[in-house]
Amino acid sequence: MMNTPSVDAVVIGSGIIGAMSAHYLQEDGRSVTMIERGEVARGASSGNAGILAFPEIIPIAAPGMMWKVPKWLLDPLGPLSLPPSYAMNMVPWLWRFWRASARAAFERTVKIQAEMMPLARSEMARVIERTGLQAMVNRTGTLDLYDSEASFDAAAADWETKRRAGFEFSRVGRSEIDTLQPGLAPRFRHAMFTPDGLQVSDPYEFTKALVDHVVSRGASLRIGDVARVEPTAAGARVVLADGAAFEAKTVVLAGGAWSKNVAASLGDDVPLETERGYNTTLPPGAFPLQRQLYFNDHGFVVTPLSSGVRVGGAVELGGLKLPPNYRRSEAMLTKARGFLPGLKAEGGRQWMGFRPSTPDCLPIIGPSGATPSVIHAFGHGHLGLTQSAATGRLVADLAARRRPALSIEPFRIGRFR
Ligand SMILES: Cc1cc2nc3c(=O)[nH]c(=O)nc-3n(C[C@H](O)[C@H](O)[C@H](O)COP(=O)(O)OP(=O)(O)OC[C@H]3O[C@@H](n4cnc5c(N)ncnc54)[C@H](O)[C@@H]3O)c2cc1C
Repeated sequence: MMNTPSVDAVVIGSGIIGAMSAHYLQEDGRSVTMIERGEVARGASSGNAGILAFPEIIPIAAPGMMWKVPKWLLDPLGPLSLPPSYAMNMVPWLWRFWRASARAAFERTVKIQAEMMPLARSEMARVIERTGLQAMVNRTGTLDLYDSEASFDAAAADWETKRRAGFEFSRVGRSEIDTLQPGLAPRFRHAMFTPDGLQVSDPYEFTKALVDHVVSRGASLRIGDVARVEPTAAGARVVLADGAAFEAKTVVLAGGAWSKNVAASLGDDVPLETERGYNTTLPPGAFPLQRQLYFNDHGFVVTPLSSGVRVGGAVELGGLKLPPNYRRSEAMLTKARGFLPGLKAEGGRQWMGFRPSTPDCLPIIGPSGATPSVIHAFGHGHLGLTQSAATGRLVADLAARRRPALSIEPFRIGRFR
């Protein structure tokens, strides 16, 4: 019989959630083995917009959202798409999403996110300081742009909710817009500026640097595809597709959008789907971008990164297997050329990534139903980078059986039963 090595803590996945979980476990004195089946840090965490979006406490599942959906779906390259070949698979998830968008459920989610974000911010600051990654974080502010006064007014309630939660921003008109970001098309005369807007210089570099940090301090990294996890008397057994196995005291499942099958091997049924997102990263110098620009009426963002100018967003409810439709990247780039007339749109690199998404827009953080030795940490949707440090902290608290820094009740897997 094959000899099964015994390890302290196994983290499945080397995205930003796995990297942060590994970091926090290591800070607690645990010895960590990370298992990644592909290239390190090349999942959703590599190609996102890099924004530490702490003020984003408003979930997508919001009252009235379902009424906007048919209009968006009519535009095949609009901000939301549901490929016909995958539509039937989405029905149970969309049903839950619809229920999560009822007024009372929405307000509950806003409250939970407003409680989570201060922890997300303070823990991110702590990680950056502990790991020496300060040079990878910029505080240049965020400019939220609207096409018209009517669409600005339609967003007023959301901004008011953010203000009540303690976030600071101010309304700006055309002359201030010109100062904050020269070169925008004249149509943009209504905007909100959040001076404290933070972003990482490049999300792949940031995640990779964190994995490198953890490895430099003794963690081991194993390339392998985790097929299943089984509870044992002393913890859990992690079994790889090639037949290798590890016995561990603690296992963290941070497999992003691919976590569903591994969770199912433990008997945990999760309504996890993916909101596929697209972007194009143009060469540095494509536009003298001063800060993140969010085009609210079009569901995409333009971000200045060390690797270039990234134009991206959109949501495609297309599962994990359909091939990418890069016409979505092109559609956003075409719009961006209209919004930023001097944009040099040549030489870009297209990308599609899988947001790991739950229908109630909250992550799954907490013990498996099968054993407290397995901790789930996935399903962060649009906010994985933002909430990664808080997630790592909660994972380590649970692994140490300490009182968590924040109640994990809203994040438990059992909420979907
Ligand atoms: C276009 C776009 C823009 C975004 N912008 C932002 C933003 O600005 N700010 C923000 O906070 N969030 C943003 N997000 C969301 C964010 O990228 C995700 O929430 C986050 O990256 C999820 O991290 P993760 O570690 O859970 O998943 P991933 O980064 O996908 O990592 C999961 C890893 O687990 C590995 N894995 C999976 N299953 C197994 C297995 N069985 N065995 C071994 N390894 C396995 C995968 O190979 C992968 O490397 C954006 C997403 C997209 C698509």
